[in-house]
Amino acid sequence: MNLASRLVRSARTHPDRAALRLEDAVVSYRTLDQGSAHMAGLLDRHGVKPGDRVAIMLPNVPEFALAYFGVLRAGGIVVPMNPLLKSREVAYYLGDSGARLLFAWHAFADEARAGAQQAEAEVVVVSTGAFDSLLASAPSVEDVADLHEDDTAVILYTSGTTGQPKGAELTHANLTRNCDIARELVQLTADDVIFGGLPLFHAFGQTCTLNAAVGSGACLTLLPRFDAGKALGILGEHGVTVFAGVPTVFSRLVREPDRDAYPVSRLRVSLTGGAAMPVQVLHDFQTAFDCAVLEGYGLSETSPIASFNTLQSGPKPGSVGTPIRGVEMRVVANGTEVPQGESGEITIRGHNVMKRYWQRPEETAAAIRDGWLYTGDIGRVDQDGYFWIIGRTKDVIIRGGYNVYPREVEDVLYEHPAVADAAVIGLPSSDLGEEVGAAVVLKPGARTTAEELREYVKHQVAAYKYPRKVWITDALPKGPTGKILKRQIVPPPELDRR
Ligand code: AMP
Repeated sequence: MNLASRLVRSARTHPDRAALRLEDAVVSYRTLDQGSAHMAGLLDRHGVKPGDRVAIMLPNVPEFALAYFGVLRAGGIVVPMNPLLKSREVAYYLGDSGARLLFAWHAFADEARAGAQQAEAEVVVVSTGAFDSLLASAPSVEDVADLHEDDTAVILYTSGTTGQPKGAELTHANLTRNCDIARELVQLTADDVIFGGLPLFHAFGQTCTLNAAVGSGACLTLLPRFDAGKALGILGEHGVTVFAGVPTVFSRLVREPDRDAYPVSRLRVSLTGGAAMPVQVLHDFQTAFDCAVLEGYGLSETSPIASFNTLQSGPKPGSVGTPIRGVEMRVVANGTEVPQGESGEITIRGHNVMKRYWQRPEETAAAIRDGWLYTGDIGRVDQDGYFWIIGRTKDVIIRGGYNVYPREVEDVLYEHPAVADAAVIGLPSSDLGEEVGAAVVLKPGARTTAEELREYVKHQVAAYKYPRKVWITDALPKGPTGKILKRQIVPPPELDRR
């Protein structure tokens, strides 16, 4: 069982149908299949063997899919990376995963090269025409590597409940089954056109858009950089039938002033998840676009779907629906399941749960106990079996659907010579759900400004992570062990006006 065989199947059934679209350029299933076979040949030339990790740091462009399916076809393991990562982050992901080869988009090649140099990995810079010629010059490997369903297909970096980003190992079976559930959820057929604005380096984009489309022979219409006007244009002109996005994207689309200028007629269903969907936004979107919005829940570690609202059983806005087929969810506190209606940590068991964290037996054992994945999310289940997420135990800020791990940003702040103490926290934001804020205590006698600290971090981490709001304070609240008590940090009132 190899995820790449789905592409071969769709190319056989619908060779001339559009697999991918980017503006007016269309890639057929035949072209995607043949391109991925050449990609497998290119990897062979680079000495890549089954089980080797290959990093892909590309935006939502057709080359992402060519590289992704090429690596899987060759039996390699894809390590998808956010193209906005800075060199130190690139070096970390490459070093941790042991990927020796990185495919990087030309526009972000400098950071990729610098990171790869530190990790002693090789970089192939990808740009549209040049990549096609490179692939054409490589031999074609038609055969799809014969793998076991428990072999790892993708390593997705996530911080899980704590600490440094670690690689969730998702197997071919994890992803294939989860993708089939996504296809069923929206009753996807080859006539569908899926909106491809969710980042493909993330589990949600991979399973619910790329793999779902390829599994059904549908078309994925790509949008590399989100822009509400462009997204609306695509929805109308490309005849999108299935929309998927994080909640922030829905709120941007309903608030777009020129919305009526874009007639959207074929849209029939929308999927959301990754962060809590405000019920008001859900209703506004349903009214504006005359299309059902289904919210689901999951994590990178669950491939990612664990629960979803479905049209068949009737959605409950504000809830994350019921566990998907073959998956169980429980609410536990102090090691035992709590009665219905009471809150506790959500745990998940089933075919969607990752194999392990890459080369981290201790973290794996802490996260998966007796076959149950401990999510770090706090929720409850109602009398109808619908789950409601009410918070999280883990230290993570979700900014417009992107996870920002405070620890990573704090590490950078602590490297600044003037910084004595730093705490990165989520601040409420009507637009993004949460915004990244940082409270900083300076070393005695040190002189710097909040603005300077902000710029300092900005240059070292991906753009979505740096703290937009920084304030300098005399002291941070601390507990008896010296641990900073983040919940007690109160941002200064003048912060909103900055
Ligand atoms: P990631 O691993 O990046 O997919 O992030 C997973 C985390 O996103 C979960 O542990 C939750 O905290 C959060 N999340 C996902 N879906 C939802 C949802 N529908 N409502 C609230 N939080 C969510």
